[in-house]
Order: sequence, then structure tokens, then C-alpha cells
Amino acid sequence: MNILEQMAVHDHEQVIAFQNRETGLRGFLAIHDTTLGPALGGVRLWRYASEDEALDDALRLSRGMTYKAAISELPCGGGKAVILLHDGLKRAEAFEAYGQMVESLRGRFFTGRDVGITDEDLAAIARITKYVALEPDPRLGDISEHTAIGVWHGMRACLEFADFARSRKNIRVAIQGVGSVGMTLARILKREGMEMVVADVNGERAKQAATELGARVVPPEEILSVPCDVLAPCALGGAISVKMIPRLQARIVCGCANNVLATPEAGEELARRGILYAPDYLVNAGGLIRGAEYFLLGRADSLASLERIHERMLRVLELARERGASTARVADELAEARLKKGKTFRDLHWGAEANSATGHAKARVLPP
Ligand code: NAD
Repeated sequence: MNILEQMAVHDHEQVIAFQNRETGLRGFLAIHDTTLGPALGGVRLWRYASEDEALDDALRLSRGMTYKAAISELPCGGGKAVILLHDGLKRAEAFEAYGQMVESLRGRFFTGRDVGITDEDLAAIARITKYVALEPDPRLGDISEHTAIGVWHGMRACLEFADFARSRKNIRVAIQGVGSVGMTLARILKREGMEMVVADVNGERAKQAATELGARVVPPEEILSVPCDVLAPCALGGAISVKMIPRLQARIVCGCANNVLATPEAGEELARRGILYAPDYLVNAGGLIRGAEYFLLGRADSLASLERIHERMLRVLELARERGASTARVADELAEARLKKGKTFRDLHWGAEANSATGHAKARVLPP
């Protein structure tokens, strides 16, 4: 498929291929949808196997940002930039050149941190443009921390719904990836008295979780199938595929990783097996909520808004149970309805008509 055909599949508005020979900068910026406002989305630096893989990542991630903004009732749309990591990249200069590209869009796209981005990279972008969530910045706060807090609110809703809420003491959470968000989430879970199993391809990070939080460490290839109550995928996307689901021993899947489902069918399969899935873009929206409220609404604090993730997650679980649909599908439909109709989360209702119109297979959602 050529680029325009790929953009047409999920109706992307714009894709910019950018390169700067002097600095070795090469990458793509995908703007998926700006119906609700300017596109917000981080920049990812990754050693992609090919240009096609990088473009595919930008397209998938930017669409996820649109859905995240829509379901979170934010006045913004979705975008994402990816930069190809290679040995010839002159890092500081390349990020300045990226900043120039962002600046040229004059606020149509705001950028920030995604996987592989350091404080120095953000500082280089911020030397050129103001359309970047510069960290650390005490007024903005820590974006990853906001994300982790949001995931916790979503997880809380899942635990309540699955009737785990009475005692958190015996709840075991398996965390795949204890990076910026995963480690902060682990600290919250520790505070809540939960038991943790962690894995990270970076052995030092796993070790830190063991030393600081008393987490049990397992090899990365074992984490998805360890016996646990909650599996929190907090590494890269695609962790949950239809093929691996039979190995899952968790009752709940709730983490921060973007695009955690390898395919939409994985969401249906989780529901069919009665595994409660917290839609990734619903529960990992904390960072975006903070960014949007800071940049677009001038809010000094977003903690109350993060708490609403709990309410949204519960609503999705209830709707999924009422309709016998998967949580993944329900979340998608909520987001799409807002995009199409500009309605708020609270306005959305489904009746028998919507049930039969979508015609999804009956799914079991906890509790039975
Ligand atoms: P990070 O790079 O700080 O952490 C990711 C961690 O996962 C790293 O420690 C890495 O070594 C580890 N990892 C990678 N592959 C692994 C594997 N196969 N098994 C075990 N560990 C593995 O990134 P982050 O900012 O914490 O983001 C994590 C995920 O959450 C990403 O998918 C990101 O897109 C998503 N996300 C992040 C934010 C945010 O605010 N940072 C917001 C929304 C979504």
C-alpha cells in the first residue's frame, strides 16, 4: 500500500515525512484527526527495522491519541511523530531540526516525550519551539507520573468491578516494563499494599524495583504468563495477541502501553475468555490530560481530572456488561461517537438498536 492508501484506511488527515541531511534526522509526523482541536502527541525515537515500520508506528500511535483525547473529553486531536534512531544521528541538532518542523505547524501539533526521549532532547526541541511539553517544568509537572496516576485510577475501577476491592493486600500485579510510567505505577501499588512481580529487558530497572519496592523479578519472556490478578503491560505495544492470550493467567489487563492489543481481535478474545481489559487509551490518558489542560486550558493542576478515569473505566465496564460487548469495542464506540457528534461522555447512551446494529459476539465481562 502506498502512503495515501495507508492514510485512507483510518482516515488520517496529514502525514509529514521529514528529513535533515546535516543532522541525520529522518522521521514521520502523522496527524490523525483535528476535529476536536489541535493534535497533541509525543515524539518517539526508535531503531526501526525499516521506514515502513516507522510510518506504521506513527499512523497507529496518532490514531490512538485521537481516541485518547476523544474519550477523555479533551479539546484536542491526535498526532504522533517518530524519529528513526541510527548511528549517524547528531542528536541535539536533529532534535532542534525537529523543533523547526513542529514550529512551522504553528500550533496545529504539540509534541512531547514518548519512548526513547530524554530531557536533553526535549530541551533541544524547546530551544526552537514553544509547542512542546518541556520537562522538567514544575508548572506542567511530570507527564509520566500523571500517566501512572491515571492508570492507577483505571485499575482501581477494574478491581472494584471484579470485586477485588475489599482487600488489596493479597492482590498481585505483574508489570511488564518498569520504565518512567511502570516504575511510578509500581510505587503507587506498593503504597496500596499490593504484591508485585516485574520484568524489564533493562536488568538495572528490574533490579531497582526489587531493591526499592520488594518486587519479585522474572525474566521478560515469563512476565505475560505469570500467575497474577492484574497484568500491567507498561513496555511497548502489541504485547497482547490472540495467540498468546491462552497463556495469560491474569483476570485483569490494565497498563500504560499504547496499542497493547496486537489486533482488535485480541480485545474480543480477552472478553470471550472473561479477562477484564482496561482499554489502553482510556487508562493511559493521564499524561495527555495534563498536557492538554496545561497548554490548551491553562489549568494549574489536573489531579481531579485524572480521577475521572476511574468513572470512565467503570462506565465502560458497565456498558460492556449491559451490551455483552468487549470493553475494547465499547471504548472505541464512545470515542468515535464523540468525534462524530461532538457529544460528551455523559451524553452517550446505547439502546437495543445500537446493540443489534453493531452485532458483536456476546462476550463475558467480569463479574459474571
Ligand atoms: P520507558 O521507555 O521509560 O519504559 C519502558 C520500559 O519497558 C523500559 O524500562 C524498557 O526497558 C522496558 N521494556 C521494553 N521492552 C520490554 C519487554 N519486552 N519486556 C520487559 N520490559 C521491556 O517508557 P514509558 O514512558 O514508561 O512508556 C511505556 C509505555 O507507555 C509506552 O508504550 C508508551 O507509549 C506508553 N505511554 C507512556 C506515556 C507517558 O506519559 N510516558 C503516556 C501514555 C502511554
